[in-house]
Amino acid sequence: MPNPYPRLTEPLDLGFTILKNRVLMGSMHTGLEEAKNGFEKMAAFYRERAQGGVGLIVTGGIAPDLFGKVQPLAAKLTNTKELAQHKIVTEAVHDAGGKICLQILHAGRYAYSPLAIAPSRIKSPISPFRPLPLPHFGVKLTIKNYVRCARLAQQAGYDGVEVMGSEGYLINQFIAERTNKRSDSWGGNYLNRIRLPVDIVRQIRAKVGAEFIIMYRLSMLDLVDEGSNWREIVTLAKAVADAGATIINTGIGWHEARIPTIASLVPRAAFSFVTKKLKGEVNLPLVTTNRINTPEVAEKLLAEGCADMISMARPFLADPDFVNKAITGREDEINTCIACNQACLDQVFQGRRATCLVNPRACYETELVLSPLSESKKLAIVGAGPAGLSAAVTAAARGHQVDLYEARGEIGGQLNLAMKIPGKEEFKETIRYFNTQIRLQNVRLVLNHKVTAAELIAQHYDEIILASGVTPRRPNIKGIHHAKVLTYQDLLEHEIKLGKRVAIVGAGGIGFDVAVYLMTDMKQYFKFGLSSFLDVWGIDQSLNARGGINRSATQALQPCREVYLLQRKATKHGASLGKTTGWIHRALLKKSQVTMIGGVSYTKIDNRGLHIQRADKPQVLDVDQIVICSGQRSSRELQQELQDANCTVHIIGGAEAAGGIDAQRAIRRGFKVAAKI
Ligand code: FAD
Ligand code: SF4
Repeated sequence: MPNPYPRLTEPLDLGFTILKNRVLMGSMHTGLEEAKNGFEKMAAFYRERAQGGVGLIVTGGIAPDLFGKVQPLAAKLTNTKELAQHKIVTEAVHDAGGKICLQILHAGRYAYSPLAIAPSRIKSPISPFRPLPLPHFGVKLTIKNYVRCARLAQQAGYDGVEVMGSEGYLINQFIAERTNKRSDSWGGNYLNRIRLPVDIVRQIRAKVGAEFIIMYRLSMLDLVDEGSNWREIVTLAKAVADAGATIINTGIGWHEARIPTIASLVPRAAFSFVTKKLKGEVNLPLVTTNRINTPEVAEKLLAEGCADMISMARPFLADPDFVNKAITGREDEINTCIACNQACLDQVFQGRRATCLVNPRACYETELVLSPLSESKKLAIVGAGPAGLSAAVTAAARGHQVDLYEARGEIGGQLNLAMKIPGKEEFKETIRYFNTQIRLQNVRLVLNHKVTAAELIAQHYDEIILASGVTPRRPNIKGIHHAKVLTYQDLLEHEIKLGKRVAIVGAGGIGFDVAVYLMTDMKQYFKFGLSSFLDVWGIDQSLNARGGINRSATQALQPCREVYLLQRKATKHGASLGKTTGWIHRALLKKSQVTMIGGVSYTKIDNRGLHIQRADKPQVLDVDQIVICSGQRSSRELQQELQDANCTVHIIGGAEAAGGIDAQRAIRRGFKVAAKI
């Protein structure tokens, strides 16, 4: 059987041309799979990615039977009626010159459903349902259902399937001792435990013929106790290769693992050394994955022989044209995924449709369409934060004449503060992207100019967009203007050096960020990159330890100062942080011994420090500085004067509403307003 993606044996030329056939779009559940008219929307979503140059697309996970669904309403492919919908997707991708595989995913004990099944009756920490153990005939039936699903996928026009064998789903649950306590022929020794995936691959191959792609997503690093060790992983790779797999993809970490694998604080390409270790063990192309978000990183991995192909998922939410831009020398035009998870995974985990913080059109391709103009207007946009930037480049792309005013010497607004936080440096890419778009779309950018209402009125703009953002709010505490007090903006903008004891008032997203910023050691942790990352989270770099984790190696971060993170609420710190990243921030602050105190009321600030009350007990925190992170106010001084002069004014981003404002909302709102003018 000729493999459509042969192993790379030649050294690579730099210049990104190789990326054309070597990049696959990794599986992402978007929520469209279950949405009304979701398949039409999915077809548009994948079509744009295929047109953008992606060689091979893998769909979000689709269950092979009722028991395999991640939640009761999740999509499955079990009959010809369901098959018909999939044809809409495969035809769209093929029309655009792409290839597409269907991912078959059985959730096992991760199913958020009373129908959850598993090798053994052991509840997972991430689902409230205790699974029923599959009887012998149930295992046989499950394999048949995988085969039926693959066959239906073939009939629907897919070029192949990906068998999801990682991230802690059913197949992984059979493989690992952690979750497989069976004593029959599907449990006990390792060869018995890997019978399920091997039989699935073998029986699919027998049914679909030689040309159909079977990609196997192999958990190369479980990152949980009682996971596989390296010798076992190599055994499994060889077994699935012998059983008929075409490609082996890399899986890193079970969902229940408490080690970050894709968040922004994970160094780029942090786990590619794992795929590299498998190279040479099997005669199949290997795909590497996780935190690869630029063409430079992707091509370096190929050049260094870490893998034969690169899988990127979220970067294609951020920019459907990633590959075409890379191979035509337009890397600076790529809208880079910043690994925030805010608009994609965090949404999906709350049962909402995925989209992208930096690209509001992702998964809304049929709904957020930029219509042609009947007349080009002269627009002024006040403020080049994310809201103003998004509005400016969108309006200009439609053909409006746009003047963008910014009081500071650079664009980006608060993103310039955000990117100073260790682990959030990727925001630099967003600013680079907007700078490029400003140039390409001929936006007239006026920096270092705090524009006034009188100037705008005198220029006779057709419409004005006020995107003047937010300023920090100072709470009403006695002594709030004491010399010890500064806002997060003072601290980050002027990079003020602080003393050895610091209190942070407010434990929202910015409060957490400031705590990370204040731990100099954490800057070292980020500075030293991969090795410190692996050590701090106890990942065994030799890969010999079971599950790839070495608890004894887990390092505490040496605190460089005493930091108190305070909040009025008595609830858990960080409850409002992102679903998929909040736990990481909490763990990191715990490792660096930040003291988190809730249920606090603030009495006063004086030379002794910050006076607080907890459970009616007064306490004085003898701190050198107090950093205020307790909310923001909209800044829209120009509004009244402009409206009094009968100007047409749109208010967007933090200027519109400061409560809960973030870059996702700012960019989306900017896009939507500009799409309507
Ligand atoms: P702003 O970013 O405040 O921009 C407004 C701009 O308008 C400013 O540049 C200002 O100089 C300019 N301006 C005001 N008046 C005038 C005038 N008269 N003339 C000319 N220019 C004017 N969000 C996330 O989504 N994810 C994160 O991880 C994240 N992390 C953050 C970390 C930190 C430390 C901070 C401070 C913020 C973070 N945010 C994050 C929040 C996000 O940056 C803001 O919500 C977002 O920048 C608000 O966008 P905006 O365009 O409405 O306003
Ligand atoms: Fe990447 Fe954030 Fe967009 Fe998700 S929301 S694709 S992590 S930039």
